[in-house]
Amino acid sequence: MSSLLISEARYEIKKSTENFFISVLGVQSAFDVVQHIILMDKALDQHIHPTYWKILTELYEGLSSNVKWMDGLSEPFKIKQGVRQGGILSTHLYKIFVQDLLVESEQNSLGYHLGDIYVGAPTCADDIAFISNNEYELQIMLNVIDRYAKEHHYKIHPTKTEIIDCSKHKSSYNWTMGGKVVKTTDCSEHLGIRRTDGKEHNFNIKKEYKQLEEQTQVWNLQNQPRLELRKAIIKARMMTGSYILQSDKHKFTHFIAEPLCQLCNTENEDIVHMVTSCPVLITVREKYYVELKREILDSIDPIKWNTFCCNMMEITRLILDCNNFKGTLSISSELITKIEEKGRNLLFQLHAKRIEVLDALNNK
Ligand SMILES: [Zn+2]
Repeated sequence: MSSLLISEARYEIKKSTENFFISVLGVQSAFDVVQHIILMDKALDQHIHPTYWKILTELYEGLSSNVKWMDGLSEPFKIKQGVRQGGILSTHLYKIFVQDLLVESEQNSLGYHLGDIYVGAPTCADDIAFISNNEYELQIMLNVIDRYAKEHHYKIHPTKTEIIDCSKHKSSYNWTMGGKVVKTTDCSEHLGIRRTDGKEHNFNIKKEYKQLEEQTQVWNLQNQPRLELRKAIIKARMMTGSYILQSDKHKFTHFIAEPLCQLCNTENEDIVHMVTSCPVLITVREKYYVELKREILDSIDPIKWNTFCCNMMEITRLILDCNNFKGTLSISSELITKIEEKGRNLLFQLHAKRIEVLDALNNK
């Protein structure tokens, strides 16, 4: 998700000559430096139920450790920081610990916005990135995190922190953090995905993120040709609502742009209109949708289909993410894979046709 946000922001900016900076921050052994007292304090601020809070404090109270060295055992010492290694709660506790930083950035509008969606600080556990299109704003963001880190007694690795300048005209700005110059580069690792300046498709995925990847079928695409990757990206954008249709433009421009579908001028263009009803896309839809429906009706009871998948809205939901219907339609995993693949293709073909028609209209 984090990585998708960055891709989306970059995609938006490619169209213009704007600057684009990503700052990747390395937190020094993040999970080990969480101060228990600050964590409990933050948990209280989150209005956690007193009983749970009590359990939590007891879990982390009175921890001690000894060092074994040769035959001897040291005096015990108290442990006052760090979330438990491998604990189920640990990632959630860490999130409570860093949440205020993200909220502060958003409330102060620090960082990039996609339309009216804030995407300035995509974060996954201790992996934080800042996105901005302004040198000075990025410097403010670095100042904010530097202050936050000091207040919370942890350290940002000055050497593992870097700024990727993806602008067409590279900036000569010298960003600093805690008085030290932050290095500027054109290549970095964020979330295990190597983001190279200008070459988005050159990525390498670390082993530990493979698991995360396998959870969503959309991303199950290693060793696939680039067209398949394009299809998955289009689908992911539609699923997350970041595929911009006319009704989104309407919202983003504060109602200046018309919400009406530019292709058919009959209805407002939202995702349901595009996927199920726009008459201009009918030939594409018929070709690929009929195939998809036949595949489903070959394996499931038509009565079930008519009960659970009877309107435009539900059909759109099924095409965007058939996992929603796994239970109600009792779809096998095998069929899920087929629907996923056919749906991905349908959405891509609709997208291609839509762009083609829009381009033709614009060049008139
Ligand atoms: Zn239309």
